[in-house]
Amino acid sequence: MNAFRFSTSVLDTAALQREMRDESCGGFASFEGWVRNHNEGHAVTRLEYEAFVELAEKEGARIVEEARTKYGVTRAACVHRVGPLALGDVAVWVGVSAAHRDEAFRACRFIIDEVKHRVPIWKKEHYVNGDSGWVNCERCAMPAAHEHDHDHQHHHAPAPSPDYSRQIALREVGADGQARLRGSSVLVVGAGGLGVPVLQYLAGAGVGRLGIVDADRLEPSNLHRQTWYALSECGQEKASLAAARVRALNPEVRVESHALRLDAHNAERLSAGYDLILDCTDNFSTKFLLNDLALRSGKPVLFASVYQYEGQLQLVRGDNITACLRCVWPDATRDGLVGNCAEAGVLGPVPGVFGSLQALEALKLLLGLPGLKPDEMLIFDLITLGTHRLRARRMPNCEAHGRAGSLAPAPAPDELEVQFGSLADAKQAGYTFVDVRDSRERSLDPLPGESLHLPMSKLLTDAARLEIAGRYLLICATGKRSAAAADLLRSQGFAECRSLSGGLKRLKASA
Ligand SMILES: [Zn+2]
Repeated sequence: MNAFRFSTSVLDTAALQREMRDESCGGFASFEGWVRNHNEGHAVTRLEYEAFVELAEKEGARIVEEARTKYGVTRAACVHRVGPLALGDVAVWVGVSAAHRDEAFRACRFIIDEVKHRVPIWKKEHYVNGDSGWVNCERCAMPAAHEHDHDHQHHHAPAPSPDYSRQIALREVGADGQARLRGSSVLVVGAGGLGVPVLQYLAGAGVGRLGIVDADRLEPSNLHRQTWYALSECGQEKASLAAARVRALNPEVRVESHALRLDAHNAERLSAGYDLILDCTDNFSTKFLLNDLALRSGKPVLFASVYQYEGQLQLVRGDNITACLRCVWPDATRDGLVGNCAEAGVLGPVPGVFGSLQALEALKLLLGLPGLKPDEMLIFDLITLGTHRLRARRMPNCEAHGRAGSLAPAPAPDELEVQFGSLADAKQAGYTFVDVRDSRERSLDPLPGESLHLPMSKLLTDAARLEIAGRYLLICATGKRSAAAADLLRSQGFAECRSLSGGLKRLKASA
């Protein structure tokens, strides 16, 4: 029998079950969806199902096949009623036989969930009060949209198809650009604060294939920034919630979801076949994993990070010429350097802004339009509304670039540490002093004359106060912190910044 089919008559479930018998199977699981006497507070007397049969059969068959390969089951089938049904009738039947019961249960669950979300079937409910209403089954399966519209005019309106005319109208997009988007594929890692706007806009734009990786389940604390989801969906896997939303928004997009954490073992496999990867996570280990994947595979990764009111965007091309994440943040993996939303707190629109920017940059990349360059980082402070673009330079001693088997040697840096007999000599040499000690040290042992105060703890956020071409001498007590700070600033394009070798201690000793 066809793996997915419609029936206009009452289902003979015993006969259906017999069809699924197989001597190699140790387990059979089935699901029956029944017509019940109430829905959404309305007493239901009977109902009708209507489907776009041709489309629905294709999609249904695809779902059953997906279940068969995903869970390795022997036989799987789904039969859905159409036309008028009575209370108590079996509206949909799913049967799966497999070598073991676990696969049978899981495949059965998968099929019914996917059918509810993906197959174009409508249900018309007749209520006790004589009223009736058409209900999209997809909406039944999604508690997000409980406000069923009982407007009778909705009946037989054919499902509208996606319309990209508003973006095709742009000279930069046009029909060619639209075709390009349709032929593109993007893997989105993280379906949270950044991932939600990213997925919305990429699906809306008609990017042909989207992959979603997220191991988390929705929590009430997510919703202030992940406003695509519903409170009633808490506890469900975000990857499948997001996939269902993408399908609802644009059925033309092929979407694959993976409810697991990207790690060193699966990164290669999950990203295979995608043109571009978007990092929408809030944790450093995944970011660096993706960074290294970019360098190994040559596949571009667009990173976004948010910290309280500030965030940044960086594109890693995965080549040997332009900067990678580790070129910019050689020490970033150490704990506590940047917190995540859970620890640091965040206002909902902040990841919304950065996710939107990320989606925009992704579309521009796919369309071949100018945008963020691989040798820069865009930093946007949403308190002051100030933007900064920092240079990101390929560092010659970058560990990740080295590991990726980089070929051409990167240019050697200028001397990072310099020595002076006195601070006056340094001033004479045209340096502006930058004190990287903390406030307490600074007040106990102030520097003579003018100096900027940029304590280590604020270096990452306050570097934007410095001028990119400024001649800076970084100073601390012993020269250690200032050397690390100078190294970091160099990597962000402050080519003329140096560290006072030996710090104030050496100056005093030689005085
Ligand atoms: Zn690097």
